[in-house]
Amino acid sequence: MGGSRSIWVGLGANLGDAGATIKAALQHLRKAAPRLQASSLYRSAAIGAPGPDYINAVARFDSAASPEALLEHLQALEQHFGRTRPYPQAPRTLDLDLLLAGDEQRTSARLTLPHPRLLARAFVLRPMAEIDPHLQLAGRPIGDWLSQVADQDCTRLPEEPGP
Ligand code: ADP
Ligand code: MG
Repeated sequence: MGGSRSIWVGLGANLGDAGATIKAALQHLRKAAPRLQASSLYRSAAIGAPGPDYINAVARFDSAASPEALLEHLQALEQHFGRTRPYPQAPRTLDLDLLLAGDEQRTSARLTLPHPRLLARAFVLRPMAEIDPHLQLAGRPIGDWLSQVADQDCTRLPEEPGP
C-alpha cells in the first residue's frame, strides 16, 4: 500500500485477567488492521517495581497513519481497558507501546521512536523474533539483540485449546 509503514506494538498487562485483556486488545487492533500478525503470549517478571508477573505479546501490522495518530489510538485503547497511571511503573491492566513505525524517528517525552527500551527487553524481542526471525534492528539482526537478553525471565506460554 502506498505510504504504509510496518507498525510494531508491544502489549503488556499485570492486573486482572492479564491474558484475557491482551487477547481482547489484539482483537480491537485487528478491527483497524485485519491483516495484523500477533505473537504468542509470554510471561515475564515485573521489572523496576514490585507487582504480579506480566503477560506480554507483540503485534505487527501495516498502516499509513502517522505515529502520533497511532499512539493516540493505543492510548484510547488503554483507557478502554481501565488503565490508570497512579505512579511510574505501577501495575497496569494494559500497556500499549509503539515500538517501531517503519523507520520513523522521534525524540520527545510524548513519543520516542524507536521505543527507547526496545533493544533491552526480552519480552519485546522474543515475540518480535517469533513474528519475523529475520528482522534487522539498529542495523543488526534481531538474533544479536536476543543473545544480549538471554538471561531475562520471559517464557512463551503454551497455546490454550480453543473454546
Ligand atoms: P511505560 O514507559 O512503562 O510504558 P507509560 O505507558 O505510562 O509508561 O507511558 C508513559 C508515556 O510514555 C506516555 O504518556 C507516552 O506519551 C510516552 N511515550 C513515549 N514514547 C512512547 C512510545 N514509543 N510508545 C508509547 N508511549 C510512549
Ligand atoms: Mg506504555
